[in-house]
Amino acid sequence: MRMRCTKLIINLADLRHNFFEIKKTVGEKIKVCASVKADAYGHGAVNCAKELESCGIDFLAVATVDEGVELRKNGIKVPILMLSLCCPEEVRVAVKNNLTPLVFDEEYIDLFEQAAALENAEEFSVHLAVDSGMGRIGCMPERSGILALYISEKPHLVLGGICTHFACADSLEQTDVDYTLQQLEKFNLACMSVEKAGINPGIKHCSSSAAALNLSSANFDMIRAGLILYGYYPSQITENYLASTGRKVELKKVMTFQTEVVAVRPFKKGQSVSYGHTWTASEDTLIAVLPVGYADGLRRSFSPGIKVCINGKLYPVCGRICMDQCMVNIGKDNADVKRWDTAVIFGTCPQGNAMTADDLAVLDSTISYEIMTGISKRVPRIYL
Ligand SMILES: *Cc1c(COP(=O)(O)O)cnc(C)c1O
Repeated sequence: MRMRCTKLIINLADLRHNFFEIKKTVGEKIKVCASVKADAYGHGAVNCAKELESCGIDFLAVATVDEGVELRKNGIKVPILMLSLCCPEEVRVAVKNNLTPLVFDEEYIDLFEQAAALENAEEFSVHLAVDSGMGRIGCMPERSGILALYISEKPHLVLGGICTHFACADSLEQTDVDYTLQQLEKFNLACMSVEKAGINPGIKHCSSSAAALNLSSANFDMIRAGLILYGYYPSQITENYLASTGRKVELKKVMTFQTEVVAVRPFKKGQSVSYGHTWTASEDTLIAVLPVGYADGLRRSFSPGIKVCINGKLYPVCGRICMDQCMVNIGKDNADVKRWDTAVIFGTCPQGNAMTADDLAVLDSTISYEIMTGISKRVPRIYL
């Protein structure tokens, strides 16, 4: 096992809890596709995928061929959706590993037909992506019938599903809610035109975490959930909001980013800390040194503002965060903090309230997704 003071603790029991909580919320009959792209949002794709497979997950979703291949190499058997397009050179590997692509034009469909023929694949499944308003990938809704027909005429392909993606399902603003409902209507029309062409559209799926919690009419046959599996609520769809609507969904944060105090050093009034001497002690104090920095994912922009949790109490990082280290002001005569004590950067602190990835996201004007996916490979993942 890799050892280092700085580590990411991943609680797989909490992942399991979140899966069943989500299952309870959307209903047993709705399939769940777990998004494990970007190394399962930093949690480690293989370990999370194995845990989810043992929970009975229906589908997994990745972004790249490499991500899918890694799961297959580790024995993952469930269907894997590939949410981004791959390059022509990767298509054959995708087919060989039975990764299910999202397709939406003739050229890309042809690439998969050719590869499926070369691999002697029978009924290689592809899902038709519809752009109902996200403006990313997908066909225009009115082309869905034609494309479904095109797929159905390919000897080695089968239409396994049809899907779309919402642009602002995490917002409660009326204009955004209206936009989502318009997207939903366009998707419904797209599904109808496939059915009118006499083709079974397969599994219908649209909702990522936000819509899964907030728009049950968009569940169709399957939801694609990422963020909520890892224990975070999407934007305005908070725990409090859900409770107020009578739909309590209790999620547990799966990831804890922590390190240890590697030194405690007395500082005199007037001594300064770190690059640019942006912070100077206004009185005699103790400074704790932590072996974690921006190369680990502790962004430079977090300071000032970030507080770390040591033995249940929050202490501010002072001065600039360095590549591999940062410093924390623990105050004068502090006997609560000792060398080798655990310092929680975000996640679960046994005795108290550590910051969350949401709190850190605010400090960098971003979202929790980017904080979690930003924890670098250098940080060992420890699984509970
Ligand atoms: C990443 C992604 C998801 C999962 O989104 P969450 O907000 O994490 O639930 C679902 N669908 C698509 C197309 C995605 O790219």
